[in-house]
Amino acid sequence: MVIVGAGVLGAATASRLARDGHRVTVLERGAPGREGSGTTAGNLHMQAVHTRRPGQAVPLDSARFLPLQRAASDLWETVEDELETSVELRRSGGFTIAETEAQVRELHDKHGWETAAGIATEVMDGDAARSALPSLGPTVAAATWCGLDGYANPLKVTPAYLADAARHGARLVPFAPVTAVTRSGGTWRVEAGGEVVQAPVVVDVAGPWLGGIAAMAGIGLRMTPVAIQMHATVRSAPVLPHLVQHIGEGLSVKQVTAGNLLVGGGWPARTMDLDGRSEAGVDGLVGNMALAVRILPFVRDLRLLRMWAGPLAATPDEMPVIGEVPGAPGFLVAGGTYSFTFAPLWGETLRHLVAGTPPPVNVADLGPDRLMRDPLDPLAASPRGGRSTR
Ligand SMILES: Cc1cc2nc3c(=O)[nH]c(=O)nc-3n(C[C@H](O)[C@H](O)[C@H](O)COP(=O)(O)OP(=O)(O)OC[C@H]3O[C@@H](n4cnc5c(N)ncnc54)[C@H](O)[C@@H]3O)c2cc1C
Repeated sequence: MVIVGAGVLGAATASRLARDGHRVTVLERGAPGREGSGTTAGNLHMQAVHTRRPGQAVPLDSARFLPLQRAASDLWETVEDELETSVELRRSGGFTIAETEAQVRELHDKHGWETAAGIATEVMDGDAARSALPSLGPTVAAATWCGLDGYANPLKVTPAYLADAARHGARLVPFAPVTAVTRSGGTWRVEAGGEVVQAPVVVDVAGPWLGGIAAMAGIGLRMTPVAIQMHATVRSAPVLPHLVQHIGEGLSVKQVTAGNLLVGGGWPARTMDLDGRSEAGVDGLVGNMALAVRILPFVRDLRLLRMWAGPLAATPDEMPVIGEVPGAPGFLVAGGTYSFTFAPLWGETLRHLVAGTPPPVNVADLGPDRLMRDPLDPLAASPRGGRSTR
């Protein structure tokens, strides 16, 4: 098996396939876990997510997401035991807050979908939310609480999965950019640097570059990569035990084990450059931090330590993509937003798809068929599968 990309999805998939006894080679263009999986906020989103990042054109289908989140939640429970190491997994729960009447109605709708998906959440008014989390500001009109929300340290998760894969015989080849993918007689041939690997199965988990790898195999996939940014404050004494999100605006805030507060919520980076480094910008910084200060006023007193941007493999319908490409037997893809939360689930799902056994969740409607287009389309044919924009 060849896995293209050593982000969290490549790492989780390598671990699952190697444990099944497959001969696994992971080809990584740079250092493992440096792109989306190294720049991520690391939230484990188990209550319904905000359906639109700032500037996002198409809302994601929250009701369809929730059964996937439910399944991912169960799998995260066993990750540290299986990988035999700490990834700073914390399931200390989270609040999603609302400020306007329309947002409060949305919280109630969300609660209905969560209940249907078997995810326990509780809706409370602003005063009840402030009693539960006194640092919430006066504009909070209501909140939902979900005890399953959490965090894992992204700088530990991908290496832990890769170490597990290596223990089970997988081979990781870093700094080996894949440059050609061809197929003959039922075997895929993948070239990467000086390496040529032949295998019956290729798993394309190249994140925002997923479309570019597929294009090398003559497969046109419509992907819409974006770059978003994050902000971290200096370390402080423990002040925020829970994840805090906003139902109507882009916000996620939590305090990590080291004491820093991480503030994100999908604010667009100033530039997206899939050939180099995307740049974080002042507009995102001001918008994101102003919102954080409004919802959690104590944040005003914390110094900002750093900000950064990271690339994200979005799809045109904002839903995950996972499955075998029709007409390309043995060529599987997986990616899309929230792949950090879904990593254990997508690793397990890909394991079943390779084995031809039923996956833990139904992914029939999430396959790449819905994204297919003519491979001669210039966007699909770009070696990096995305556009470089400001
Ligand atoms: C700022 C930010 C915050 C986020 N916050 C959250 C969050 O809180 N919770 C959540 O669930 N999700 C979050 N996400 C999304 C999530 O982190 C990503 O979806 C996930 O990490 C993507 O993992 P991946 O393995 O699919 O892709 P990536 O981590 O991007 O890995 C793809 C890999 O493929 C490699 N590659 C590319 N081209 C080639 C080639 N030609 N040959 C070989 N290798 C190649 C790349 O170098 C890269 O290492 C966030 C993303 C960002 C950017």
